[in-house]
Amino acid sequence: MKFCPDCQSLLTPKKVGKRKKLVCKLCGYTQPLTTKVKAAYRIKERIEHGPQDETVVIDEELAKQRPMPTVRAICPKCGHKLAYYWQVQTRSGDEGMTTFYRCYECSQTWREY
Ligand SMILES: [Zn+2]
Ligand SMILES: [Zn+2]
Repeated sequence: MKFCPDCQSLLTPKKVGKRKKLVCKLCGYTQPLTTKVKAAYRIKERIEHGPQDETVVIDEELAKQRPMPTVRAICPKCGHKLAYYWQVQTRSGDEGMTTFYRCYECSQTWREY
């Protein structure tokens, strides 16, 4: 963070013409935005955004490559009674394995809760 040498208030990055500058909102002081300063501001932004929400990813490619076993399961989309299934270890360990199903008929994919 950079502060105004005149009035000590926080300088904020602002686009002036084609270039970005650090501008004091209070007294109008400006200074060129160097790459070093730019990087410092970018790091701060990243921290404020926080960690991304955990998402469970269905590994489509992996599922295609492996010959999958089939099981009797009713498709929620077309009502077919046979589906491929595979299991995935969820990232939050205490949940254990999650079973995924893919309809033999229409390729609808769903997971067991
Ligand atoms: Zn100032
Ligand atoms: Zn189906």
